[in-house]
Amino acid sequence: MILAKKIRLKPNKNQEILLWQSVGTARFIYNWTLARQRENYENEQTGFPKFKSRKKSKPSFYNDTDKLKVKEKLVLIEKVGWIKTAEQLPQDTKYTNPRISFDGKYWYISVGIERENNALELSDISLGIDLGVSDLATCSTGKVYKNINKKKTIKKLKKKLKRLQKQVSRKYEKSREVTNRYHKSQNIVKLEKKIRLVHRKISNIRNNNLHQITNEIVKTKPSRVVMEDLNVKGMMKNRHLSKAIAEQNFYKFITYMKYKAEFNGIEFIQVPRFYPSSKTCSHCGAIKKDLKLSDRVFKCQCGHILDRDLNASINLANYRVS
Ligand SMILES: [Zn+2]
Repeated sequence: MILAKKIRLKPNKNQEILLWQSVGTARFIYNWTLARQRENYENEQTGFPKFKSRKKSKPSFYNDTDKLKVKEKLVLIEKVGWIKTAEQLPQDTKYTNPRISFDGKYWYISVGIERENNALELSDISLGIDLGVSDLATCSTGKVYKNINKKKTIKKLKKKLKRLQKQVSRKYEKSREVTNRYHKSQNIVKLEKKIRLVHRKISNIRNNNLHQITNEIVKTKPSRVVMEDLNVKGMMKNRHLSKAIAEQNFYKFITYMKYKAEFNGIEFIQVPRFYPSSKTCSHCGAIKKDLKLSDRVFKCQCGHILDRDLNASINLANYRVS
């Protein structure tokens, strides 16, 4: 099994210049190859891939697998030399596809690492996980993971973002009044950098949260995990829900959960889209056709009353593959 690992690099000033040079070289080779392809395409009148611009492509380049060397908290990068790492990369193992990238603030190295499957001692619990807009995830065990976007830290950062965005547009307006065109002053450049860093911070917090939750779920050692096959694209068409759903990163949650479950030998099941996990009574199996999105409590004619999301997650846990 290949485990993906991403570790922060701590280059000094000189090394950082060399890293940027390598990024430039990678882009140059990519564009050069494309130019050749483009010549071939020209007669056929078909579309061809786009050139990478400095602005749009995420700065990154690949390191030759055989030339990558690792010492204690050091890694040898081609044409740059030994760079400090924030953590120790595992030694005495095979690495694949080492890639160096920059996220707007820090440099990272990502590698694939060959690893034996570490077998966890699993319980016989089948765990259903229902994803939702108000709470992020409800487990059939009763455990609920709240929506992080409702927490203070994210709310504060979003306010900060709004304030910065207002400042920038005001500065643009002012410059237009004076020069009759949109001019990017040093101040605007500074503000836009601040905005990028706040965006980055928010996305890091959300991502860490997903990793924490999925790790915690794996640690409860269920023998299988059952989730919905969410039609995220379809849900995004609902304008009231689309923003909330995008912020919750359902798709990432499912991807992380699946990867971590399978890595630990836990069976991972996604139920088909038409399976009525919300509308079925988890006690008697009757289907409640008129259940509305606003009904937060599931009330069945059999007398069973339960939180809507908990009811759905229990149905997921009980799902049998036919
Ligand atoms: Zn019932």
